[in-house]
Amino acid sequence: MSDFLIELEKAAGGVGSVRTNEPMKHHTTFRTGGPAAYFAAPSCVKELSDTVKLCRGEEIPYYILGNGSNLLVSDAGYRGAVISMENFCGCAVTGDRIRAGAGLLLSRLARKALESSLTGFEFAAGIPGTLGGAVVMNAGAYGGEIKQVLQSVTVLNKSGEVLELEAKDLDLGYRHSNILERGYIVVEGEILLEPGESAAIKARMEELAARRREKQPLEYPSAGSTFKRPEGHFAGRLIEEAGLRGFQVGGAQVSEKHCGFVINRNHATSADILELCRQIQERVKLQSGVDLEMEVRRLGDF
Ligand SMILES: Cc1cc2nc3c(=O)[nH]c(=O)nc-3n(C[C@H](O)[C@H](O)[C@H](O)COP(=O)(O)OP(=O)(O)OC[C@H]3O[C@@H](n4cnc5c(N)ncnc54)[C@H](O)[C@@H]3O)c2cc1C
Repeated sequence: MSDFLIELEKAAGGVGSVRTNEPMKHHTTFRTGGPAAYFAAPSCVKELSDTVKLCRGEEIPYYILGNGSNLLVSDAGYRGAVISMENFCGCAVTGDRIRAGAGLLLSRLARKALESSLTGFEFAAGIPGTLGGAVVMNAGAYGGEIKQVLQSVTVLNKSGEVLELEAKDLDLGYRHSNILERGYIVVEGEILLEPGESAAIKARMEELAARRREKQPLEYPSAGSTFKRPEGHFAGRLIEEAGLRGFQVGGAQVSEKHCGFVINRNHATSADILELCRQIQERVKLQSGVDLEMEVRRLGDF
């Protein structure tokens, strides 16, 4: 066992808190990606802070992982430490407010809102990410976005200090926040909802889930919409107009059901997915003159 691994285990919570050569295909919704040299899952702020400090001190790159639903990891893997937020999944309701850990899945948070007869979070129930990932991306769907409900976040800064920030300080915009550029790690967030009727909240969630099932290729691994919506256009429509419905590179395919989704159709590699994305960008640019920007994040060497 290397000295670094021993120290990492100590920092992240002791024996069992770190795995080595962890296949990232088990941690991304694309179901692709090679091994992470280290995969740590701290359980409290101190362990998180110690883990980050150790990596910084030893100059080992690290990456914060939510649910990996907006992430493409290189087939060669990642030579640093992936730090999973999976153990930060507490949740407490006080009046119209819900305070939750960054690793809590949005579906769980939405269920908590439903059980508490709180409305305003129905839009997020079908987004397969964590609260932390959703804050970073300002995730949104069906007319709702995190920005509308988020009140504040607790973050860890690069020096390991815990800060409480108001949502208005996060520069939340279309699939954007300033969290990554400032090197923050979201630890918790608080959302403010409104009293509602359980039956109506449940009905709205079911309606949106049915719309997703009807329009999106949920039967295949993907990262949702692969590209950001270009101003004045829809990525899916541009891709369809470029004649790319069903277009395939290796095992990666432009979904036949929804052209905005690149899917892992048949044992795709991350290289297949990225090459397909590159060809889509090229063909769409030629066809319509529009630059498509990837929404999906990349990790490792491509
Ligand atoms: C089938 C499907 C449907 C989808 N539908 C939607 C949709 O309707 N709307 C939408 O907006 N998105 C959608 N997505 C994309 C994705 O679910 C969202 O972007 C989601 O917010 C990502 O959350 P995550 O926890 O999986 O983040 P990850 O993919 O793990 O990470 C995303 C980014 O956030 C960073 N990050 C994660 N957690 C933290 C943290 N605690 N602190 C600091 N940085 C952090 C990561 O380092 C990374 O840069 C969909 C994806 C799929 C697969």
